[in-house]
Formats: sequence, structure tokens, C-alpha cells
Amino acid sequence: MHACVIGAGVIGVTTAWQLAREGWQVTLVDAATEPASGASHANGGQLSYSYVAPLAGPGVLPHLPSWLLSPSSPLRFRLRADPLQWRWCLQFLQACNARAASATSAQLLALSYLSRQVLHDIQQDNPIDFAHARNGKLIVYRTPALLDKARAQVALQADLGSDQQILTTEQLIAQEPALAPARATLAGAIYTSSEESGDCARFTQGLARQLATMGQVTLRPQTTIQQLERHHGRIRRLLTVTGEAIEADQFVLAAGMGSRPLLAALGVRAPLYPLKGYSLSLPCHQEQVPAISVTDYERRTVYAKLGDTLRIAAMVGIGMPSQGIEADRIALVKRQAQELLPQVNLGPAQAWAGQRPATPHGRPLIGRSRAADNLWLNIGHGALGFTLACGSSHLLGSLMAGAAPAINPAPFRPDC
Ligand SMILES: Cc1cc2nc3c(=O)[nH]c(=O)nc-3n(C[C@H](O)[C@H](O)[C@H](O)COP(=O)(O)OP(=O)(O)OC[C@H]3O[C@@H](n4cnc5c(N)ncnc54)[C@H](O)[C@@H]3O)c2cc1C
Repeated sequence: MHACVIGAGVIGVTTAWQLAREGWQVTLVDAATEPASGASHANGGQLSYSYVAPLAGPGVLPHLPSWLLSPSSPLRFRLRADPLQWRWCLQFLQACNARAASATSAQLLALSYLSRQVLHDIQQDNPIDFAHARNGKLIVYRTPALLDKARAQVALQADLGSDQQILTTEQLIAQEPALAPARATLAGAIYTSSEESGDCARFTQGLARQLATMGQVTLRPQTTIQQLERHHGRIRRLLTVTGEAIEADQFVLAAGMGSRPLLAALGVRAPLYPLKGYSLSLPCHQEQVPAISVTDYERRTVYAKLGDTLRIAAMVGIGMPSQGIEADRIALVKRQAQELLPQVNLGPAQAWAGQRPATPHGRPLIGRSRAADNLWLNIGHGALGFTLACGSSHLLGSLMAGAAPAINPAPFRPDC
């Protein structure tokens, strides 16, 4: 059987790897010259297996007015004359309740634990050099009231077997001395020892190199798919922008935000909307940077040491232009990073912007598409694509093979 996977981001490459391992002949196509050129390129690097709560949570509505009005808010919203935006936002707001958020969290947790297992298996069998660190995550709080709220959550999760510690400011500094200069502004932290981090692009490219050595895999960079040609309810072939046809038995759409127009041309509406985010990458040979990955909770900014690079990622922009880096947003990320890590020289930092392909409810869409019998989707991973990639691809591989999946696939079943 021959499968063609569209998209060589972290989702498409892990999908192709999973299928090839299961004996499929695989063609992996991408518009770009190398894998991980889209959202997977310079993301926050968090393998955030325990922190998978969807963006649509009960805390969103009370904060929304202040987030929308404040120029230093992590969220920026631009209303567009775009029914796709309105529909997505409406569905997002409908999902902002405790019942939906806790159900989604439990479903994503099952997927993230599967992901962790698959990634560890890859690292054990054929390790990829992607600055993989397994040294936990610190969520730092600036406001004592918020730390108290988190304390209650930690107590709750401890009953569910989660290994988390609450740290006073002094304990936090002892654990992560790079935060000492910001001591006066910090109220404390939650430390979760099981969290991991790594460079998503290096992982994706490393796995793609492994794919290239597998006899039955063909990698086709610089191949932009224009159309999925359907005939009698099945995809017959793909047509590229240069008019070339690519045939296969089964097709997987894993093209991030590029999936939406391809599905729309088949008459189905994928509930995907881009959430724009920004990152800074800078060399960190000499300066004292956090060795443990850090989330600045109130600012929704993450810091990860990826080998000799410090990666800082932040912000959610809804309705922003797909290309370009908004100067005021990246200046804000720099200012806030400088406050937390005044000892770091941000001068050489390289800025990047990417689009998280997000569903309103926060669950990725994994499974057969309604558009055609032999079309499968692995899309919509939002802010957690790196974390969820290996599990999502494992799940899709089982569904495509007709094998029993490792977790319940129902919550992720596409309705498009
Ligand atoms: C600022 C930021 C920080 C983030 N931080 C984290 C984090 O810390 N941890 C985490 O788990 N996740 C994080 N994410 C989310 C994660 O990066 C994404 O969920 C993930 O990269 C999505 O992967 P993907 O393969 O679906 O999409 P992409 O990486 O965008 O890949 C899609 C690919 O499809 C190709 N393509 C599109 N259309 C076509 C076409 N018509 N023909 C051929 N090819 C096509 C594109 O060229 C691209 O290579 C972050 C995202 C951002 C933006």
C-alpha cells in the first residue's frame, strides 16, 4: 500500500515515519525546501506532556476585556471581515467552560502520554540529536493570589498521581539560579519534574533524515499541492502547482494551516484558524540562562535552553497578517524577557513568527476525513503540535491500518 503525506512539519514527518515503520510505501511532499519550515520551525520547544489544558478555558472570559484592551497583553485580536474568524471565535467562546475544558484536558492528556512514550521509544532505538532535555518545567508566578490558586490545583493533581512541587521564591532561586536577578518580582513557582523540552525543527529534520534512509520512502520538497482530485468519493491523485500528478492508495493531509484551503476545495470546512505567535532565538554560550524550562505564567511566555540556544516564545494573535513580524509585539517579548533575565544580552536574538493551526476546542483532528474514503487528517494541533505529534501519528497509523488504537480515537474524530 502506498500513502502520500502532504506536509513535512512535525506532524507530517512523524506521520510518514509511523506509516513507513508499519510497512507502507510513503511519499512525503512539502511546498518548502526543507522539513519544519512552517509552524514547526522555531516554536517554544516545550514537550509539555502534563500541561495540555486547552486555550479555551473557564478563566478566559473574565480576563478577556483586560487582555483585549491592554497593549502589553499576551493576546491581540483584530476583527476581520471574515466569517471563518467569526465562526471560530464563537465556537471558541462556547468551549470556554469548566466542563468542556476538563473533558478536553483528559483527552489531550491521554494523547500526550502516548506521545511521550513514542518519542522515548524513538530516542531509545535510533536517537535524534535535538537538544532533548528531561529536566522539568517551572511555572513562575508574579502574583501571590495566582500562586495560591495554583496550589489548590497541585493538591488536586497530586491525588491523580501528578508529581509537582510548590516552591517559595527562595526555593525557586535555589533550583534555578538564573532567575535570581528577578527575585523581587516573583512570588514562587510550581515545579513539574516530568516535563521535557527540545528543538522541534531539529527533531523533525532528524526524523526526516531517518526516513530518507528507509528504502520505501520518497521525500519530495518544493512540491506544492494545488488540488486533491476526487472521483467517486475517493481521492484519485494530487495535482501540484506545476501540473504534475501524484498518485497513491491513501492520502494524509498534515499541512498545518495549508490544509484548510485544500479541504475547502473539496467542499468541507475545517475548523482551523491561525493563532500567530513569536519567538526569539539567541546563542547562550556564556550568559546564565535557565537550565530548566520556564513559563512566566502571567505573561504566557516560555523559555527553553535548547543546547546552546535560548528560545523564548510568546503571544497569541488572532486576525494578524499571516506573514511578517509585528515590531511592537516582538519589542514587547524582548522587554518582558529582559525583565525576567536582565543578565542576558538579547542583541543577537533572531525573531520569528509562526501560525499555530488551532481548532476552537483545542483538540486536533485525527482520522478519516468526510471528504473522501481514502483521505485522512492529522491537523489542528494548535499550541501543542510538538508535544502531541508522536502520539497523534501513532493513533493515525493504527486507524489507517485498521488496528486497535492505543487510546480512544473518538474525541479526535474529524467532522470535516
Ligand atoms: C510561537 C509558537 C510557539 C509554539 N510553542 C510550542 C511548544 O512549545 N510546544 C508545542 O508542543 N507546540 C508549540 N507550538 C505549536 C507547534 O509549533 C505547532 O502545533 C506545530 O508545529 C504544527 O505542526 P504541523 O506539522 O501541523 O504544521 P507546520 O509545521 O506548519 O507544517 C505544515 C507543512 O505543510 C506544508 N504545506 C502547507 N500547504 C501545503 C501545500 N498546499 N502543499 C505542500 N505542502 C504544504 C508547509 O510548507 C509546512 O511545512 C508553537 C507554535 C508557535 C507558532
